[in-house]
Amino acid sequence: MIVILKEHPDRTQLDGLLQWLKDRQIDVHPTVGAHQTILGLIGDTSRIDIDLISALDIVEEVKRVQEPYKDANRKFHPEDTVIRVGDAVIGGGSLALIAGPCSVESEEQIIGIAKAVKESGASILRGGAFKPRTSPYAFQGMEVEGIRLLLKAKEATGLPVCTEIMDVSQLPLFEDIDILQVGARNMQNFSLLKALGRTRKPILIKRGMSATYQDLLMSAEYVLAGGNPNVILCERGIRTFETYTRNTLDLSSIPSLKTLSHLPVIIDPSHATGRSALVPSMSCAAAAAGADGLIIEVHNDPPHAKCDGPQSITPAAFGKLAGDLRKIREALKGGGYR
Ligand code: PEP
Ligand code: MN
Repeated sequence: MIVILKEHPDRTQLDGLLQWLKDRQIDVHPTVGAHQTILGLIGDTSRIDIDLISALDIVEEVKRVQEPYKDANRKFHPEDTVIRVGDAVIGGGSLALIAGPCSVESEEQIIGIAKAVKESGASILRGGAFKPRTSPYAFQGMEVEGIRLLLKAKEATGLPVCTEIMDVSQLPLFEDIDILQVGARNMQNFSLLKALGRTRKPILIKRGMSATYQDLLMSAEYVLAGGNPNVILCERGIRTFETYTRNTLDLSSIPSLKTLSHLPVIIDPSHATGRSALVPSMSCAAAAAGADGLIIEVHNDPPHAKCDGPQSITPAAFGKLAGDLRKIREALKGGGYR
């Protein structure tokens, strides 16, 4: 971090700043020019609040030369983080397939889909119990009953389960859930992220609709800083001016996030496109671009799905896609572009 001081800074304020930095184990290397003094700050500046320094009367400008996230940063953790849940592996070059309906609708539905996607090679079952819907009049999910049915599907198939937590108060209900999903709308629910940092569960954080990579990594940092190293990043499309697709899938997030961070990066082609016809091609593109996994909405009867039917593919389509994905990964084995 570089702090550019104004001309003739007040000595008392400057001493105060230097002491404040010393207390935080930051070494200061000053460069004194004819008109201006520049302070080079050496040490772990990720925990320094840039706004506190910028607000001082004696400070002209503050610039970060290092990312404001440390625990999520590949520079300090060069090895890929690999997360294991049951038999599933996420990160480190494998392609984990997370599949299932947008929402749990009945016991028959969730168990039927779970068996079908497992048969095709999915290693984790997804299914929403608490749904963050834009309209308060839309189906809100089966809630506690949905969690119970997901756990029944886990029992029936052995698949670990992934479902969305919307609020800190729901945490006790998620004790037996394997992966807790933080939805795009909740990416910056900081009290929720802090609470998840106190658990040791794998946390799948979806990128907010208008969040930058840095915003997403700072959200991951909340969980990591709390002591929970098990974070998975998920790109699920961002809002752009395009309206044909539900969102715009940013595939460059895969190599970018994997360069910036050691955390696994997965792609959600379902919410990214909003169209089932686009899901297979975008899944293949993500696999080719080096994604660590995919989270795909699969429904036995998409036209009658209670939520996100238009973007849900059938178990048969998922089966074909899973085969194609295996071929793509096989073809790229030992390769990769990062
Ligand atoms: C979902 O996974 O069903 C969901 C609501 O996702 P997102 O938070 O990405 O919209
Ligand atoms: Mn959905």
